[in-house]
Amino acid sequence: MSFSKEVKRELCNVICETDCCKRAEAYGMVFFGRSFGSDDISIMTDYDFVAKRYIEAIKTLINVKPTVSYTQSGKKFITLDKKEDRMALLNELGYSGAETSYRIIKNNIERECCLGAFVRGAFLSCGIITDPKREYHIEFGVSYKNKASDFCDLFDGFSAVPKKSVRNGMNIVYFKDSSHIEDILTLMDAQSAVMELIEEKIYKDVRNNVNRKVNCDSANIKKTCKAAAIQLEAIKKLKRSGKFEELTPEQKELAQLRLENPEMAFSELSANLKKPISRSGINHRFKKIIEAAQKIE
Ligand SMILES: [Zn+2]
Repeated sequence: MSFSKEVKRELCNVICETDCCKRAEAYGMVFFGRSFGSDDISIMTDYDFVAKRYIEAIKTLINVKPTVSYTQSGKKFITLDKKEDRMALLNELGYSGAETSYRIIKNNIERECCLGAFVRGAFLSCGIITDPKREYHIEFGVSYKNKASDFCDLFDGFSAVPKKSVRNGMNIVYFKDSSHIEDILTLMDAQSAVMELIEEKIYKDVRNNVNRKVNCDSANIKKTCKAAAIQLEAIKKLKRSGKFEELTPEQKELAQLRLENPEMAFSELSANLKKPISRSGINHRFKKIIEAAQKIE
């Protein structure tokens, strides 16, 4: 399965807790679909779960069931056939239907929580992500320049900074930095994908440090990387939620050290602590940190 497909499948299983986010995701999906305007509102997709999510999106906005058909190559093609339905959907989102250029209406994604939902919707409709084993790359293919600019503006002041280019007449908004991709995946709530990305990063770090790991077989390295990824994700979650400060000084010291050295083995972590402790002591301390992170909603 392609990594894009895997991520989209995960995103289609995200449950929108609030109506505002449900609406924001629906907006992102229809706005960045194959077509969005008074003459045509549609999406074309390879995946059943994306098609289903699009149908739900339309339902969320105007409670109408769109038409489903198939292209010759077996893609799902979902359309709103009736003009009155298209107008109702546009009006619902604050458009008159007479616009020459459809811009993002920020009122529809007003609350802070809604940005992630909107970006998730956009990714489901027009996003691609490359397997981090091959390359760090996530992109959104947008048909109009104004739309692409508006989309980039949403990331003003955000940790991940988008780049723009044009390919085959499409406006591409993309992120290439692995930490930016991690931020975007986190924003969209693709937690498994975030873990895979972090794991892959650590794996590359460890592999680059061959001398130190020369005695380890690769299965062992993989196991270590997986554990380190879980620790890192927990520490980042604690930082994001502001709960990091509630850890004990010893836990904080270890967490900070791990954050700065994702690839470090337990023995080295221990050697870098103010008071070195045993392997099982490190393990125990990480367990407590992970438990603290799991308590966060
Ligand atoms: Zn919201």
